[in-house]
Amino acid sequence: MVFVGPKYNAVMWQAELEIGIRDRELSLVIGDITKIPADAIGNAANSRLAGGGGVDGAIHRAGGPAIMQELVQIRARIGQCLAGDAVATSAGKLPAQWVIHTVGPVYGDGRRGEPAALRSCYERCLELSDELGARTLTLPAISTGVYGYPMDLAAKVAVGAVASKLSGDETRVKRVTFVLFDDTAFRVFAAATLDIMPTLAS
Ligand code: ADP
Repeated sequence: MVFVGPKYNAVMWQAELEIGIRDRELSLVIGDITKIPADAIGNAANSRLAGGGGVDGAIHRAGGPAIMQELVQIRARIGQCLAGDAVATSAGKLPAQWVIHTVGPVYGDGRRGEPAALRSCYERCLELSDELGARTLTLPAISTGVYGYPMDLAAKVAVGAVASKLSGDETRVKRVTFVLFDDTAFRVFAAATLDIMPTLAS
């Protein structure tokens, strides 16, 4: 499928969607985030930065113990990482230079600041990418696993936050890729992306 409009264009393959925002790119793929090369990889961590299941477990398994060693030092310094914030480590054996560990909100009823905290996760990932000098960033669907954020609501927040950063003047990140773990997540993120496209700067 090819979508073309006055302010945007996009190409959607079976499991890949790419859209241009200014001279940058927002893309969606289905896959395992530990296998896709990028300058920085986003991780859905917990506030203790202690490792866990889901994407966090996969990142620590694939990256090796160096990542946790750095997190232990960060924990000693800052105590914990609050929901909506992020910290960076090197990436061990992952095909990346850095991992950006961000703590998503646990979803309650959606009225306890969850959307703002989730938005902040993505914004902090972009901001830390800029601090580190990362030009390409992969991101998972933060909070949509164990933390229970409904995928459709999370997708709107995620895509909105990243698209708005890529539309702005501050970031030097060139490409952000959402790596969705299955077909359902991909479709939901693709729908959210196509929804906001008409509002984006070309
Ligand atoms: P959270 O605690 O923030 O909800 P989870 O790791 O439980 O984090 O889930 C976040 C999302 O990451 C879920 O949609 C899950 O399907 C997805 N996920 C799990 N493993 C991977 C992986 N290896 N690559 C990409 N996404 C993954």
